[in-house]
Amino acid sequence: MGDGTRARSSPRRSRKDLLAGLARPPLSDRRFWVVQAAVAAVFLARLGTRFATDRAAISSVPGSVWILLLLVPIVYAGRIFGFVGSAGAALSGVGLFAPEELLAHHSATGIWEVLSALGMLLVTAVLLGDGFEERRLLREQLCLQERRRAELERGAIQAGAGEPVARSERRFQLAFENNTAGMAIADLEGRLVDVNRAYCEMLGYEAKELLGRNLVVFTHPDDRSLTLETNRRITSGEVDQTAYVKRYLHKDGRVVYGDVLTGVMKDEDGRPMHLVASIKDVSKERELAAQLSHQALHDPLTGLANRVLFDDRLTQALARGAREGGLVAVLLLDLDDFKGVNDSYGHHVGDQLLVALARRFEQVTRKSDTLSRFGGDEFLYLAAGLSSPAEAEEVARRLLDALSEPVLIAGTRLEQRASIGVVVGGSSGREGRELVQNADTALYEAKRQGKARHVVFSSAMHELASNRFELLRELRQAFASGELSMHYQPLVDLGTGAVAGFEALMRWEHPTRGWVPPGEFIPLAEQSGLISELGTFALGEAGAAATSWRPTAGGACLPYVSVNLSACQFHDPDLVPAVESVLASTGLPPRRLVLEITESVALADPEASKRVIEHFERLGVHVALDDFGTGYSSLSYLTLLRPSIIKIDHSFVGSASESIYNYTMLEAIVSLGHKLNMTMVAEGVETPEQLERLRHLGCDLGQGYLFSPAVPSGEVARVLDSTSGSFGQQVASLASRHERSA
Ligand code: C2E
Ligand code: CA
Ligand code: CA
Repeated sequence: MGDGTRARSSPRRSRKDLLAGLARPPLSDRRFWVVQAAVAAVFLARLGTRFATDRAAISSVPGSVWILLLLVPIVYAGRIFGFVGSAGAALSGVGLFAPEELLAHHSATGIWEVLSALGMLLVTAVLLGDGFEERRLLREQLCLQERRRAELERGAIQAGAGEPVARSERRFQLAFENNTAGMAIADLEGRLVDVNRAYCEMLGYEAKELLGRNLVVFTHPDDRSLTLETNRRITSGEVDQTAYVKRYLHKDGRVVYGDVLTGVMKDEDGRPMHLVASIKDVSKERELAAQLSHQALHDPLTGLANRVLFDDRLTQALARGAREGGLVAVLLLDLDDFKGVNDSYGHHVGDQLLVALARRFEQVTRKSDTLSRFGGDEFLYLAAGLSSPAEAEEVARRLLDALSEPVLIAGTRLEQRASIGVVVGGSSGREGRELVQNADTALYEAKRQGKARHVVFSSAMHELASNRFELLRELRQAFASGELSMHYQPLVDLGTGAVAGFEALMRWEHPTRGWVPPGEFIPLAEQSGLISELGTFALGEAGAAATSWRPTAGGACLPYVSVNLSACQFHDPDLVPAVESVLASTGLPPRRLVLEITESVALADPEASKRVIEHFERLGVHVALDDFGTGYSSLSYLTLLRPSIIKIDHSFVGSASESIYNYTMLEAIVSLGHKLNMTMVAEGVETPEQLERLRHLGCDLGQGYLFSPAVPSGEVARVLDSTSGSFGQQVASLASRHERSA
């Protein structure tokens, strides 16, 4: 069927095409040529055998030509009347002409020849007729379309109040053909009767591939029953028209979303005749909507569920738990000291680490559970359908185990630990928000207990948490209303008794609670982010106070001021400018400022700490390693970080130092520090015995209640003037005692 008759085109044009096709021999029909070749081959073969046995048989040549000519009317008859026409033409042709012709040329001996020619013609007729059968069906289809259009026109005329038939028909055709929406007309059984170009393009088929086939064939299997049901409701008259979105199957296999409006066409008596559907391809919109809804519910960096989706899943899980039983657990995971990664390696690496960790957590997430990114370096895990709280702890262990191997990013091995707060709720149908809050409380406890662990929420924690919450609220107020101040504790030269410096320690005088210890409010400020403001305050106050200090009587140097830095302050890129600005605004010489960082802060990221320490040393500001001996106590790091000052933790100085082990440790630390040219400071010196021991070991400076507690700024001068003598005497008397005993 290569003559290009297009089923989709209008009936008139189709008929014209058909006629034009008939006027041409079907030269492009492969079967026509096969038959012709077969006929020719048989005749040639027959000629050959005749020629070999009987030279007179050469006269049969006109007979074969005649047979070929006979094929032409057979072909045409087939085109018009199908198989029956072809066969009829063949039989009548042979019946009318063949006997005399064939018998005249091919002596009467060959009656089999007549029969074989007849058989050949029949075969030809069958083959050709079969091909023409298809065309006949198509022609029927065209007639059907024409009838249907005529019906539509009638309807249009009724609606258009006497509009001329020709114009309304044209209008309909234009509207149908050129409609940008896909349009399809089907009979009541759902067989497609007519489709427009947009419909064909939407599904990737040619019209001839669609016509006559049931429309559900091109519908996504999952939407077939919906389609059938919708069409049934329309044809049964239950509804006039329906609008719905369904999925089609494109020829290439992909799914096409169609917004379908289906109605029914009725005859004059109101009986339904055809289904007519207009379909708008909404695949792109769908995709966009799916993308948007994914974006609205997922974290763009890690692709994990976001808080909105998590809350939704939590609400559902709690409802299911209340209905069917089973416990629900919420785990709030916070990466330990993650900020250090961002600050040292940049946000790019931080982001990559978050993604890598998200993938690891995903690997240990059960299908029925939800893992979400809560924001920053926090992840929320929802475990549903648990039978015991122990299972929730098992989940926590799995998540922490996922971090046991370091992550390799851009050639850097990053060790990352995390803390988890676990809360188990469930059948009581408790509010989701409350669960998350309690998980947060448990997380706080996990951090407080030293990080890299999980803690299960208990109601006792709840009370602590609400106290803490209240305290934090008050701390913010306290800072604003000036209840915070800096006190100064002297650092005494153990050789001379002179005050070498003061450590600035923050104090909060609460109007009703009295003095709140910094061990209570500093961690609270660190957790809440308030610490950066407090830190700036401490630096500014201490810097300003130090400029007014005078040397101890007999002392040569002006005392330095030592300011404590929290972990997040130390890793804050704004720290260096903040320190520089304090130095500039107060006029304090850099060598009179010392910054104290704890060992654990420095060792969280030794390389980054080294850079910060070097930077300060270049500025002339010394850095002291605080609480030395309580953390990793990795002596090898001392050579890397090279702080100017080491503050030996009071646990090595106090009663514990009485053990031979601690004494040996103290001795080793002091001698190592001295070898590395560091100033050694002993913290928590409370008794003359401790002082004596420290002097004996050659420790440089001491700090403790033996000399003085931290005093308000206004009392520093008194400490320098009046008590300096007593430090001196203490130290001197110890010195003489020591010399005597030696
Ligand atoms: P720290 O840096 O180790 O400060 C020394 C602590 O030991 C101070 O406690 C001090 O009062 C106490 N202390 C001094 N002498 C003795 C003694 O002979 N025996 C004993 N048992 N303790 C002694 P404080 O003032 O309560 O401060 C506690 C911690 O709070 C500090 O420990 C420091 O880590 C933090 N902190 C205090 N002020 C600030 C601040 O301005 N910024 C930051 N980031 N942290 C601060
Ligand atoms: Ca300190
Ligand atoms: Ca300390």
